[in-house]
Amino acid sequence: MKRTEYKTPEELKILTNKTWNETAAVIKKLKKRKPKNLDNFVHRLHHEAFDEFDCLDCANCCKTIGPRLTDKDIERLARHLKMKLPDFIEQYILIDEDGDSVFREHPCPFLLPDNYCMVYENRPKACREYPHTDRKRFYQILKLSHKNCETCPVVYNIFKEITRANW
Ligand code: SF4
Ligand code: SF4
Repeated sequence: MKRTEYKTPEELKILTNKTWNETAAVIKKLKKRKPKNLDNFVHRLHHEAFDEFDCLDCANCCKTIGPRLTDKDIERLARHLKMKLPDFIEQYILIDEDGDSVFREHPCPFLLPDNYCMVYENRPKACREYPHTDRKRFYQILKLSHKNCETCPVVYNIFKEITRANW
């Protein structure tokens, strides 16, 4: 795979939209066929890309899409910040239109100016797992990951390879 280079979310959105239909057609095929080698294919590209690309040069995800927070995430973050749970919730959390707990603000309130995460050791589970390209049964999250091409330059590059491959 071509070396990943940083792109802004605005650039990624334009690029993703240009090939949206072509990629969506491949996704449709993959969801139907569920090829056994899809996980290995995607996981190899994930590791290749993240061995070279440093998320500190990006932080698009922390700047533009907040994680969905579990109760455990919220309790752990409040403890980390030595705040009382109700105070932490009042200051940082809101319930979105889907009923999920999310941070009140974007960029994330814990993102530092140098792109480090202030709560890294205790960051939410969704932050640890993003962008999910090392997930088993990747065919289950193809559509969600396609949307992530608009945010993550690594996911964008992985989908270019998925679209090119002969399934
Ligand atoms: S908690 Fe940390 S990793 Fe998660 S969005 Fe905020 S800055 Fe990024
Ligand atoms: S996971 Fe993707 S979007 Fe987030 S910082 Fe790393 S490369 Fe950027």
